[in-house]
Amino acid sequence: MPGKRKRSLIIVIDGPAGAGKSTTAKEVARRADLDYVDSGAMYRGFTYLYLKHGKDRSRLKDLLDSHGLRFEFHSTEARVYHGDTEITGDIRSDSVNSHVSDVAAMEEVRNTVRKLLRQVSRDSDVVLEGRDLGTVVFPDADFKFFLTADPEARALRRYDERIGKGEQVSLDQVRENVETRDRIDSNRDIAPLMKADDAVEIDSTFLTFEEQVTRILQYIRNTPTATTKIDIS
Ligand code: C5P
Repeated sequence: MPGKRKRSLIIVIDGPAGAGKSTTAKEVARRADLDYVDSGAMYRGFTYLYLKHGKDRSRLKDLLDSHGLRFEFHSTEARVYHGDTEITGDIRSDSVNSHVSDVAAMEEVRNTVRKLLRQVSRDSDVVLEGRDLGTVVFPDADFKFFLTADPEARALRRYDERIGKGEQVSLDQVRENVETRDRIDSNRDIAPLMKADDAVEIDSTFLTFEEQVTRILQYIRNTPTATTKIDIS
């Protein structure tokens, strides 16, 4: 139709914790000159607020209606603000790690995040990472990937990442958190962690980071889409 704007290009990468979704999604976004969106950061932001307000479920609706959260997605990081206060570090705290999967299982929270994700992706070409993006949030995404890895490899990667940031944490603690979150995320009634039927599965256990990224970029490069042609160097 003349004058009708083409819809934006949407690439989703879903998968369990520690599979390498964030680093991979950021690098794919950087090389393909797309925006990067971290849906987990949104669930973490709402979990931070929920904890700050005393885990009061009766106030959740009010909290969601007037949340005051702002998400800024850069190619190298996701920054989160509550009002004027940056809470990027706070959303990665142990207490948020321990509660985020329970909060993300709440229907009102999922509805709010789903709307936000569709809003931020409306006008730009994006790579998003999450758990239910290919199945629920963007069932018509142009490209869907499901990134997995052996549970021990995922726990080790998460551990290395946190130690690299100077955090004091044990491998057992990290393993326990990754396993618990995966169990809750995979078994919840609403929008569980699941591979979409039409997603391309990549097991990254024995892949280097570069191989992971290259597989995704090659797949995108070799698959024509109705939406747009992207230039990947
Ligand atoms: O990606 P990240 O590990 O930061 O996500 C934190 C949590 O947010 C996940 O364990 C999951 O409970 C929730 N989440 C979700 N759906 C998404 C993204 C994240 O339920 N699309």
